[in-house]
Amino acid sequence: MAETPTLHDAFIDELRDAYDAEKQLTKALPKLAKAATAPKLRQAFESHLAETQNQIARLEEAFGLLDEKVRGKHCDGIEGIIEEGKSVMEEDFEGETMDACLIAAGQRAEHYEMAAYGTLVAWARAMGHDDVAGLLQQTLDEEKAADEKLSALAEGGINAEAASGAHGEDDAEADDAAKPMPAPKKAAAAGRGARK
Ligand code: ZN
Ligand code: FE
Ligand code: FE
Repeated sequence: MAETPTLHDAFIDELRDAYDAEKQLTKALPKLAKAATAPKLRQAFESHLAETQNQIARLEEAFGLLDEKVRGKHCDGIEGIIEEGKSVMEEDFEGETMDACLIAAGQRAEHYEMAAYGTLVAWARAMGHDDVAGLLQQTLDEEKAADEKLSALAEGGINAEAASGAHGEDDAEADDAAKPMPAPKKAAAAGRGARK
């Protein structure tokens, strides 16, 4: 009879899932970068691609510390999120409207990763794998920073620019007239990510 798998087994499984997710993201991020109009948004996706490659190296180091073979296990969750991002890129959105949609897609991926690494760090700490927990915490911090950067870009002008053309030509004047009105300070804008 096979032994009942433990939390350690579940942990290794989740690490393999994260490893596969990061690999999928290294293919998706260049597409997001290419589709972006705002140079700062393109740079954000490109710099997160470099971080993602480093996150893959960190996971390889974690497998080594745990005496496990480096192996991925297909991550269905991130595949779905990437598929949704691809659908958005196939739409005819332009300029800031497309940028706002790319940010939305990117933040879905970051939040998924934050959930995954949050669990991995907690499990590693609970089981006393402190060295691995430290590595995973570095990645979790990067995912949070990437999410916050996307929020800052959305709220720093991209959403407002996209919104200014949101209601078509007829509405343009009304939208322009509305512009000087102060925006509510704590608007629950799309593109706002989770805060610590
Ligand atoms: Zn363990
Ligand atoms: Fe990542
Ligand atoms: Fe990420």
